Amino acid sequence: MALKELAPRIARCPACFGELDFAETITCRGCGASYSREGDTPILLAGGAEAPKLGEWYPGFLDALPRRLRPLAARVAPRLRPTLVYKSQQARTEVERFVASLPIDGVVLNIGSGESDYGPNVVNMDIGPFANVDFVGVAERLPVADGSCDGAILMAVLEHVRDADLTLTEARRILKRSGKLFVDVPFIQGFHASPHDYRRYTEPGLREALERLGFEAEASGVAVGPASAATWIGAEFLALLFSGRSERAYRLLRPLTGWLLWPVKLADAWLDRHPMAYTVASAVWVRAKLAEPEG
Ligand SMILES: [Zn+2]
Repeated sequence: MALKELAPRIARCPACFGELDFAETITCRGCGASYSREGDTPILLAGGAEAPKLGEWYPGFLDALPRRLRPLAARVAPRLRPTLVYKSQQARTEVERFVASLPIDGVVLNIGSGESDYGPNVVNMDIGPFANVDFVGVAERLPVADGSCDGAILMAVLEHVRDADLTLTEARRILKRSGKLFVDVPFIQGFHASPHDYRRYTEPGLREALERLGFEAEASGVAVGPASAATWIGAEFLALLFSGRSERAYRLLRPLTGWLLWPVKLADAWLDRHPMAYTVASAVWVRAKLAEPEG
């Protein structure tokens, strides 16, 4: 995966925020630190810091199976473990509309992008060199220049970082004065470590966190609706209830209860636009701009 042209323009040394030389080795012109690549992807982690280890995201049912069944089960696992959130077309395009609303020649940083890619002007960063990732870094110490981005995206990231306030402060640092931020976080979802799971937000709670840290919320809403919340919580609840307090039985049951309740989530095709959907929404979003400096 070749680096997007825009990526070296905004990338900086995570130790001193100095400019980087992207030659055979990546070297900081400020402090002389050098950074490696994994495949083609620069690993921009300060002072030998390690990104959080990516493990199995869910207490899996695989190791609850007899050993000889595991290789087969691993191959079909994505089909055994259904996705229990349904993001309606309207909610899915919210982030695309955000990117489209920014200057066409601008730069957007997707922090914790996973394998997603929202366009040629979006630079993708994550803690691992996944497909589409332009460089590896951590959200609490972005390897990115001050005031260099027109937009930043935090999709399903704030629940996974150790320090959410520091992550938002870093997002503010890399934005231009006219820059905007799009945040999408879970409210009612089951535990899902990736590799950690630390917190949830209500819609007003997310707006408050942003405003406390120097943003002004412009718009907010439900990202994933209450039917998805009911599906996920219901699947966890039934697996717990019928597993007789056995962890192994829970792990084996959980894919089954997931499939049993799976169709319920489809009600979010229309329910996520209910005016009261935020009361038990699966996820919420906020679009914010930098607050005007006081005085
Ligand atoms: Zn440096």
